[in-house]
Amino acid sequence: MTRRRLLLIGGGHVHLEVLRRAARRPFDADIVLMSSSPRQFYSGRMPAQLRGRITAKGLTIELGPLCRAARARFVEASVTQVEADARGGVAITASGDCSGDVLSLDVGASVQGLDTPGVTEHAFRTRPAELWSALVARLNVLIGDESRRVVSCCVVGAGVGGIELALALHARITAAKRVALVALLDAAPRPLGAWDQRAADQVMQLLHDRGIAMHTNARVARVEQEQVALGDGRCLPAELTVWTTGAAAHGWLRLSPLALDSDGWLRVDSTLRAVDGRAVWGAGDCIALENTPWLPRSGVYAVHAAPVLAHNLRVAVERRGTAKSFHPPRRALALVDTADGRALAHWGRFTAGGRWAWWWKHLLDGRYVRRYQRLPVRGE
Ligand SMILES: Cc1cc2nc3c(=O)[nH]c(=O)nc-3n(C[C@H](O)[C@H](O)[C@H](O)COP(=O)(O)OP(=O)(O)OC[C@H]3O[C@@H](n4cnc5c(N)ncnc54)[C@H](O)[C@@H]3O)c2cc1C
Repeated sequence: MTRRRLLLIGGGHVHLEVLRRAARRPFDADIVLMSSSPRQFYSGRMPAQLRGRITAKGLTIELGPLCRAARARFVEASVTQVEADARGGVAITASGDCSGDVLSLDVGASVQGLDTPGVTEHAFRTRPAELWSALVARLNVLIGDESRRVVSCCVVGAGVGGIELALALHARITAAKRVALVALLDAAPRPLGAWDQRAADQVMQLLHDRGIAMHTNARVARVEQEQVALGDGRCLPAELTVWTTGAAAHGWLRLSPLALDSDGWLRVDSTLRAVDGRAVWGAGDCIALENTPWLPRSGVYAVHAAPVLAHNLRVAVERRGTAKSFHPPRRALALVDTADGRALAHWGRFTAGGRWAWWWKHLLDGRYVRRYQRLPVRGE
């Protein structure tokens, strides 16, 4: 039998684990990873870097060394379309195409509202993560400017990520001995819609105590170079605007003949295979899992799916063994860095906070990143 090729598209959380497992126990297949960036930034640690608590190294996973350890080939390219049938497929990029017998998508998501005027020109997006460094650089310029007494920021999108970033920005600007004018905006009537009211109120109180202005029911009409204009006519000063609205499917997926749901996410069955039987698998933010509409788009769920996808890709490409089903847990622990050496732990209806939660988060996050940074290369 000829050796088959596994084509991994996107260097997201799930494919990191597929590669780590391939490094430990090689696949009987050639593996190619195509990703638009040579490195992956671990989002759980972005607020800590913004605050200056860790350096870029603490959240960066280089894909080249990881591929070498897994004996995979790395191709830096942005996929613009995928074509596939039941026997294999091809990823199309501006610099050339790459085919595979088994394709797997872990390309994450884009953000909602990119068509709002001024967003692509003036706001810093948190997705895709490779844009992250530009945000950090802009903040460093602002706080490094001695002539500035006040630094104003708007964070658009009050999910967990937005809340953490607003708190981190406030803490960093204050630590730099500037006045922090930080606003957090959301179009919804309250932040953290998926959390129960009591926990959301606790977070609102925290933002209030820290001096961060929370604007709910706030729809952004336009982002300008130094301000954000709202639909109701108000304008908020913003020398730095962070756009961290909810996840939206990549537009290029719609150009591909794949089974997508109405929002453009790849529809997969419980084995994480495309529902229409094409040789395409997927996991992480980019999928819609059949019969599980409640599945949140968060790193925790991507991490849960990773061992299942790794196993099923091995079965598919080696043509032996039995595929497993992914059963996402109904609840997942959220640890929110409150930028004061503490964190809030949220689980179902339980919320508690303190230094212990921050240490716990720091420990888990550090362990996660190091797991992919320190893989030995076989034969060296
Ligand atoms: C500030 C912030 C904080 C967060 N904190 C947490 C947290 O504490 N806990 C949590 O569970 N979740 C958190 N999240 C959410 C989490 O980041 C995402 O859910 C998670 O990254 C999704 O993982 P993924 O594997 O689907 O994709 P990603 O990690 O986004 O990876 C996608 C990969 O695909 C590549 N790619 C994208 N497009 C293409 C293309 N066209 N061609 C080739 N490659 C491509 C990218 O370069 C990237 O390597 C946070 C998000 C943000 C923004």
